[in-house]
Amino acid sequence: MPMIRFLGLFACLSAWLAPAAVHAVGPPNADLLPVCVAAVQAGDTPDTIVQAPADRMTCGEQQRKLGPGDYWAVSGPVDRTSTAADPLTICIASLWQGDIALTVLYADGRRVTQSLTNRDISRHIELGALIGWTIPAHDAPVRRLVWRVDDSANMRGVLVGAHVMTREEARRGSLQMAAVYAGFAGLAIALIVYNLAMWGALRHRFQLLYCMMVALLLGYTLSSSGLLAWAVPDIANNDRIRFNHFFLAASASAALFFARSYFEPRVMDGWLGRIQLFVSGLLILVGVGFTPLSHWSIHLADRLYTLSFGAVMLLAGMMLWASWARRSRYRWMFALAWAMPILSGTTRTMINLGLLPWNFWADNSTIIAMAAESLLSSLAIAYRIHLLSRERDAARAGAIAAQLLADTDPLTGLLNRRSFLSRAIGRPGEQQMMIIDIDHFKRVNDTLGHDGGDEVLRVFARMLREVAGQGSLAARIGGEEFVLVQDAASAISPDAVLDRLRAARMPFDLTVTASIGCCTGPLSDEKDWKSLYRRADRALFDAKAAGRDRVRSALGAAA
Ligand code: GH3
Ligand code: MG
Ligand code: MG
Repeated sequence: MPMIRFLGLFACLSAWLAPAAVHAVGPPNADLLPVCVAAVQAGDTPDTIVQAPADRMTCGEQQRKLGPGDYWAVSGPVDRTSTAADPLTICIASLWQGDIALTVLYADGRRVTQSLTNRDISRHIELGALIGWTIPAHDAPVRRLVWRVDDSANMRGVLVGAHVMTREEARRGSLQMAAVYAGFAGLAIALIVYNLAMWGALRHRFQLLYCMMVALLLGYTLSSSGLLAWAVPDIANNDRIRFNHFFLAASASAALFFARSYFEPRVMDGWLGRIQLFVSGLLILVGVGFTPLSHWSIHLADRLYTLSFGAVMLLAGMMLWASWARRSRYRWMFALAWAMPILSGTTRTMINLGLLPWNFWADNSTIIAMAAESLLSSLAIAYRIHLLSRERDAARAGAIAAQLLADTDPLTGLLNRRSFLSRAIGRPGEQQMMIIDIDHFKRVNDTLGHDGGDEVLRVFARMLREVAGQGSLAARIGGEEFVLVQDAASAISPDAVLDRLRAARMPFDLTVTASIGCCTGPLSDEKDWKSLYRRADRALFDAKAAGRDRVRSALGAAA
């Protein structure tokens, strides 16, 4: 039942989040400019490359087939005017490359070139990791934009995602991206604080692993959004991308550890657990190794990185399967929380492998997917803790019931001899003790039968419970022999007990009486108990001998 409630909550949340998310990551409000590229040859200039024969140019998606190198990239016709009042901005996606120079070709023949080294790019990074230039204002419209891209790795293309925007469009795009990143950062910080606070009380390992995953995602957000370039303007753009790779790999590794510790141990036992350790280790290795390896061969580094994420997707699929096959109670939670990252990760892996074209949405889907994963996982943690505490409450109630059963006499519900002794011995100060024995109980049994006799014992016990005060112990220590112990300071009159018994209504209105042997003394240890019991028992014997239905008290210590 609680599962249904949680799923309902999930459904509501996703229905509310999804459209907002899709809206917010929409590509900045502009159409993509078509771009064609050509390898740099001696004697090329921006003007000659615009005039180059069509067979030298490679357009759109085809560009990434050309491999790494130095390239010209030429936009299609722009035909818009950048004015001082409303300057135009040109943005492209940040990719792995060296220096980049933009030449704006105006209709009147004016050319303006703005060159950026890889380090300069950081100062031109817009939110969403776009490289942006303001197009200098000029009376004549812009005809074409020509870039020279040096040392392009050309893994997703030489130049992709080019779009011209007005200042207003750029501002709105930035605001949307800022909302997405700020939203995620706020969510992540809140989730970390909340889960750390919960960990303080509950100490489940998966809570810490979860916090680690979200903290690393926060690092990824910082670098992938481009915020890192704002904070550290001197960082080379490729170094920022290296941070990206490290944080994403590390958070994926933490996510796998989290998922593993979240499930019941049986789900990830054996080979699946070993695969998880391997893949998580591989991710750390690839995440850390990406930096040195990319200096040597960015293509190899990228390939290894992409393949290790392919392994994550495969493993996530296997974990999903195992959680179903091994009937985990958390399989629905896992499926829901991981659906978005799996979808986004699979899409990005396919793009990286060249099976799908580069896409702004897919490029920025990680953050949305991870926000969903973080939020749903936190709810999943709440659900898991809910189940754990329910189990703990049930176990505690069971333990209490078992203890009660072990401590009480099943017929009368009074303490049994063993638990009476463990509670009575060691009571501080003077204690009053009464041994109460029903008179001629054999006759009661003979008259009423054994069941009738049992009923008399029950009625008798109820009466004893009523006369016993707050701090008293009432126990059945033999067949029809009972004991009452209380502090001497709040002693009970034994005659009052007999009066109550006479007044009690017995089966078939049978008259039942009892005799009481009473005494007071210390009860601090086993020796005290033996002496007190001996004296009370002797007094009881006297009461029986004197004709029953009466009280005898042992006054001094027994000889
Ligand atoms: P006295 O007045 O001297 O105490 O006589 P008595 O018959 O009460 O004493 P005795 O100790 O000789 O007999 C106790 C009887 O209590 C014997 C036993 O059958 C009966 N009895 C013991 N436990 C139970 C029980 O759980 N249920 C019933 N119905 N009878 C029990
Ligand atoms: Mg008796
Ligand atoms: Mg007896």
